Amino acid sequence: MAEMPYIDLEKCDCCGHCVEVCKCHAIVLVNNIITIIETEDCGWCTECEAICPIGAISCAFEIVFEEG
Ligand code: SF4
Ligand code: SF4
Repeated sequence: MAEMPYIDLEKCDCCGHCVEVCKCHAIVLVNNIITIIETEDCGWCTECEAICPIGAISCAFEIVFEEG
């Protein structure tokens, strides 16, 4: 199963910016609700996370734990 970015729907105001930047069409608006479609094509470009003005998207795969 593909690991996909997580969208906090309680924060999301459905502005649609993430839909516009997603190259693989993994993010769509369905009945005015942002929906992630699981796809192996998500290149984890993180552009959806970067463009979200309210930080509602998080790309878990970006988390890096450093020892020290
Ligand atoms: S990380 Fe990139 S390809 Fe994946 S859902 Fe976000 S914008 Fe689309
Ligand atoms: S950019 Fe953020 S607030 Fe806008 S639709 Fe996407 S997740 Fe929701």
